[in-house]
Amino acid sequence: MGAGVETCPKQMTFGPCGGVRDDGSCEMRPHPCPFATGALPVPWPGPGPGPGSSPPASVLLDALATGRAVLTDLSLPPYDEHAVGDMVRLLAGSCDAFLVGEHQDRPDWPPTVMTRLVTDAGGVLWTTLACRDRNRVVLEQELAGLRLAGVDGVLCVTGDGRAPGVRDGVTQVFDLEGTELAALAAASGHAVAVPESPEAFPRELRPGRLVEKQRAGAHVAVLNHVSAPEQVASYVARARGLGLTIPVVAAVAVFTDERSARVLQRFPGLHVDDAVVERVLSAPDVRAAGIDAAVEEARALLAIEGVEGVNLSGRGSSFDEFHGAQVKVEIGQRIKEDR
Ligand code: SF4
Repeated sequence: MGAGVETCPKQMTFGPCGGVRDDGSCEMRPHPCPFATGALPVPWPGPGPGPGSSPPASVLLDALATGRAVLTDLSLPPYDEHAVGDMVRLLAGSCDAFLVGEHQDRPDWPPTVMTRLVTDAGGVLWTTLACRDRNRVVLEQELAGLRLAGVDGVLCVTGDGRAPGVRDGVTQVFDLEGTELAALAAASGHAVAVPESPEAFPRELRPGRLVEKQRAGAHVAVLNHVSAPEQVASYVARARGLGLTIPVVAAVAVFTDERSARVLQRFPGLHVDDAVVERVLSAPDVRAAGIDAAVEEARALLAIEGVEGVNLSGRGSSFDEFHGAQVKVEIGQRIKEDR
């Protein structure tokens, strides 16, 4: 049993998760996060990938090798198979791959089914796989099914705690955590992504924590939103200095109105540039200003040494998912024109 498992509601050993609040308290309960005071990240004990082992074939990993990959969040109305195909076709050509989340407040198709829906529509999918709702056996089932379904890669996450009011009384499993799932997924032959939140408390542990996830088997890092590209630059430089070699994908905040902006501002561990948000929201054409701000942020992130791709992340619009997707199409196309 690890250091934090007795008091961490997610039973984590390789914490802290990305949800530690800025005062060092837990995202799920009003008590201190037991990992927040550690001087060093909890080391991955192994085994990890063998020396010289190469990552599996993956469209996204190939795109990252060019240094200018675009990964786009696929925001979808839940349990709507027709919308998946429509959305994939709408976004086709504006990105290299799609990322689908497993949200704590919005259950949707299981990852295996989502993979089939996206690939049948011609898309390349990286699916999130969360430990919150599945024990180890079910995670193994999903990993086997995802290979059969043709997923391009798996983002292995511990998962946010279930949102209040969503399936009240339901258990939250957390048999495994994201780092352990990354090792399991890599051993199953998947291309594996892991998240990290550079500006989440405690910041000094975050670069080393990503290196430990790499040691567990991760092939790519997907960073959460930060307040400015300079934060990504210093984070990546520190992680590279500690031995990080895998490609890094940095998050671009996609919003074009008040609600889609405020959602990005309210999550623990996630930061956006408040001055940019206010500048966009006070512009005469907020939609155009939001798109310009996202393109500007993407260009700044892609110019950072060690950042090989961007993730267009956020709802994009509070109208509906299709308006949000149209915003991402325009941003993705402008980034691709730079290539
Ligand atoms: S903040 Fe995360 S890692 Fe820390 S105790 Fe809470 S759930 Fe566990």
